[in-house]
Amino acid sequence: MKLRNGFVSNSSSSAFICDVCGAVESGMDLCMRDAEMFSCVAGHTICESHKLSPEGLEDLSHMQKRDKVAEYYEACNYVSESNKKYLNGAATDAEVESAFYELYDESEYYEIPSDFCPVCQFEDMNAYDLFAWFFATHPEMTEATLLSAWKTEYKTYAQFCKATKIK
Ligand SMILES: [Zn+2]
Ligand SMILES: [Zn+2]
Repeated sequence: MKLRNGFVSNSSSSAFICDVCGAVESGMDLCMRDAEMFSCVAGHTICESHKLSPEGLEDLSHMQKRDKVAEYYEACNYVSESNKKYLNGAATDAEVESAFYELYDESEYYEIPSDFCPVCQFEDMNAYDLFAWFFATHPEMTEATLLSAWKTEYKTYAQFCKATKIK
């Protein structure tokens, strides 16, 4: 992709890093669409090329759409007062239908539903999740004890890379 370069007034530099492959796109006033990336409702940043194509969305029943909309707002960090109706079941059928089509609009690039995100669907892993999972499921270990075990076992970082096939 082509990025603008040179001086642009009132602009700021931004960068996006893909949570799946680590690709970095940066540029002045870069938006997700220009970077060919999207963000999901859980905050992952992902290249469009990894975007999932969930099947059967158009065949969902009204109740399933209601569940999808509620699931979306449950995953949101912040739910405005006016959107709380989707969580407590107070939204009318018409409101649910329009919220569903708005959330599942294919032209959206920001905070899109988790159905499109390979990390949220456990199709791909990001390093942060692996890190969090490892320490959550190994309560006997801390970052400090693990680092000291590595130091004893591998002696140098070069040895560590060789053993873990990092390079
Ligand atoms: Zn990527
Ligand atoms: Zn996600």
